[in-house]
Amino acid sequence: METLLVDGEAVRARFPILGRTVHGRPLVYLDTAATAQRPEAVIEAEAAYSREHNANVHRGIHTLAEEATGAYEGCRRRVAAFLGAPGPRGVVMTRNATAAINLVARGLEHTLGAGDEIVLTVMEHHANLVPWIQLARRTGAVLRHAGFDPETGELDLDGMIRLIGPRTRLVGLVHVSNVLGTINPVAEVAEAAHRAGALVLVDAAQSVGHMPVAYPELGADFLVFSAHKCYGPMGLGFLVSTPETLERLEPVEGGGEMIERVELDAATWAEIPYRFEAGTPNVAAAAAFPAALDLLEAIGLPAVREHEIALNARAVETLERLGGLRIVGPRDPAARGGLVAFDDPLVHPHDMATIVDTRGVAVRAGHHCAQPLHRVLGLVATTRASWGVYTTGDEIEALAGAIAFARRTMGA
Ligand code: PMP
Repeated sequence: METLLVDGEAVRARFPILGRTVHGRPLVYLDTAATAQRPEAVIEAEAAYSREHNANVHRGIHTLAEEATGAYEGCRRRVAAFLGAPGPRGVVMTRNATAAINLVARGLEHTLGAGDEIVLTVMEHHANLVPWIQLARRTGAVLRHAGFDPETGELDLDGMIRLIGPRTRLVGLVHVSNVLGTINPVAEVAEAAHRAGALVLVDAAQSVGHMPVAYPELGADFLVFSAHKCYGPMGLGFLVSTPETLERLEPVEGGGEMIERVELDAATWAEIPYRFEAGTPNVAAAAAFPAALDLLEAIGLPAVREHEIALNARAVETLERLGGLRIVGPRDPAARGGLVAFDDPLVHPHDMATIVDTRGVAVRAGHHCAQPLHRVLGLVATTRASWGVYTTGDEIEALAGAIAFARRTMGA
């Protein structure tokens, strides 16, 4: 396989959108944690699928239908191999990470009763909070949340382990926080959960594609992520598990594709994983996603991770040089995923994001779908800059320049 150097223009050149301007200035895209840009190979694979192979999957026996099915199932196999998962039968393709978490929460409903416990953390994205709130409302299950240190962003691991007990049915946690950047000790939590007989769900939306992630090493029963956050198309997400674990979930969406036999008043389910994929899926996205994984493997996930750590170091150093900013999350650049969120007491995050945009710099402002996390920080919102394989040190400098400009503009 070809090797690509992450620091080279060779990588940036593969992302056509990086050539555009915003407000007359070169785009500085620092919002990869919200969605990563797509390489030409992904854009082309999606278009080529639509131009040459488009058909519905599984049902047909004509040539195009077989090609579409081959592309769709090829993606499932590729994702299983990419994560070192037991096999494609343990991979369910969904709309996004959120849908994958909802699938698990609703699929486990029949196993939960009043007083059973679900253990989460307060640093979760709303995607890993709200489905469990809804499940608790329906079943009478009790939610418990482990905290984190607002100064260091570190999970209270001992506290979390203490929350896990004989009534715990599921333990859910984020691998890399989308605000703090904290990388959580997932394997240690999973070990404690498994000792108590609980299942473990890991939200890997911010880690897959940004660092080496091996499904067996995390100890997760369920791992979820979205293709669009690792350089693939929107409208495609994954629930990665084992066929045996998926057997424990009730299929919650009924319809075509997910059945074995249907009577007017009864139905039996298709085999795993198809019973969780009712209706027509996003085949074009699945056809294109392997091209994103090819690019990541050509660079090498350890090199991708090194690159993001170097950018973390540069960002923390550059933002500290500006003075007066509160950076949230771990200080150590190697202890965070590829993002830095901060608060400037002098400029509201929304003003900050609006003004730096006039300089072509795209960052995100708000609660980043993590309101409880922000309450622990004592903040309503933060500004977040995040990176990927195409981000350069010069872009971090451009961010610093744009922040200084925002401060001047606001008279700060
Ligand atoms: N979890 C985390 C940690 C995230 O950052 C996100 C996306 N912001 C999600 C879950 C949800 O991803 P999606 O919107 O693709 O379902």
